Amino acid sequence: MNIAVETQAIDRKQDFPGLVTDHGKPWHYLDTAATSQKPQAVIDTVARVLGRDYATVHRGVYSRSAQMTLGYEAARRRVAEFVGGAEDELVFTRGATEAINLVAQSWGAANLRAGDRILLSQLEHHSNIVPWQLLAARTGALIDVCPITGDGRIDLDAAEKMLTRDHKLVSFAHVSNVLGSTLDARRAADLAHAVGAKLLLDGCQSVPRMAVNVAALECDFYVFSSHKLYGPTGVGALWARGELLESMPPWEGGGAMIEKVTFTGSTYAPPPQRFEAGTPAIAEAIGFAAAVDYVEAIGMEEIAAHEYALVAHLREGLRPMNDIRLFGPEDSAGIVSFLIDGVHPHDLGTILDEENVAIRAGHHCAQPLMDHLGIPATARASFGLYSDESDVEALLRGIERTRRIFG
Ligand code: PMP
Repeated sequence: MNIAVETQAIDRKQDFPGLVTDHGKPWHYLDTAATSQKPQAVIDTVARVLGRDYATVHRGVYSRSAQMTLGYEAARRRVAEFVGGAEDELVFTRGATEAINLVAQSWGAANLRAGDRILLSQLEHHSNIVPWQLLAARTGALIDVCPITGDGRIDLDAAEKMLTRDHKLVSFAHVSNVLGSTLDARRAADLAHAVGAKLLLDGCQSVPRMAVNVAALECDFYVFSSHKLYGPTGVGALWARGELLESMPPWEGGGAMIEKVTFTGSTYAPPPQRFEAGTPAIAEAIGFAAAVDYVEAIGMEEIAAHEYALVAHLREGLRPMNDIRLFGPEDSAGIVSFLIDGVHPHDLGTILDEENVAIRAGHHCAQPLMDHLGIPATARASFGLYSDESDVEALLRGIERTRRIFG
């Protein structure tokens, strides 16, 4: 199969030691939406921090610790700048999931009352559903679900009709992890703000594949994970508007988040420290910033164009196969979900694995979306900056083989 679609050339496979099999063959890794492979530059940074640079942050009077504190705070500045935010507006969390739970338990518990409403969408990841259900159970707030359009976008016309002054929060995925559809985030912000609600954007899938600027988007909260952006696991970020973060109570107590502790009561550090109890993920945060350096050197616009071209290539290759159902819009960002008639996605995934092609098969932590589509699972191929046409061709060959096996 040879399909002529212009791909922006990013040729970086050699930077990623994970992209070969145990037998030294190319590994066609198409599960980057779950987690990305790591470039050597990030691996080297983490190894250096855990090795010759290692010490704790924020407490030591000795110079190694002071150096480490500078490194950790520089990482915060780097990650904040990357999404257009200020350093004191960026909280390091364990990941996007923890960032959403932080907003729910701190801002949400302080601001939502019985009868207030939260607007989510049909395509959200469980991480952007369950924390709000826990909050709703605690406060008596109610959750509404915005429908999606036929091609898998959050239906903002419907959102406009649904929103009322009772809505205190709108929380949407910036890019869907199943469908790859991109939200018109600016319009979502305008709609939320028109009724006095805040907008949280789940940036897990957008931050790795497009340029993001929280000021331009005019959102109130933005969350993302390092491990999907070519950085280490165990660290992620919450960006929140300065005045919001300032007004939020702590959600976890411990060392490093306090000003003064006595048995009659404690006072708390200003943000972002107020939200970082305990020893942080030091090496991981510095590795996160190294990942930001790595992708910025390539360019987020270039990465976006590269992934759009690969999506177009894959969709064109699948379209002539009339037993394939494709989900999501034509211009999906780096992610393509599909089904082959009569073939369970798990069987496809197993056959592809024999060909050194790794895709994801399942509900992708989006069971309400699967229920809406009337299916239990999809097969999902997702690209990264290191993906290229050889990966698309290997996937298409594997799909053709699977169709032959299943007759
Ligand atoms: N939201 C979306 C859209 C995601 O794709 C994911 C990860 N699959 C998450 C939230 C949760 O991210 P993490 O597991 O890194 O906390």
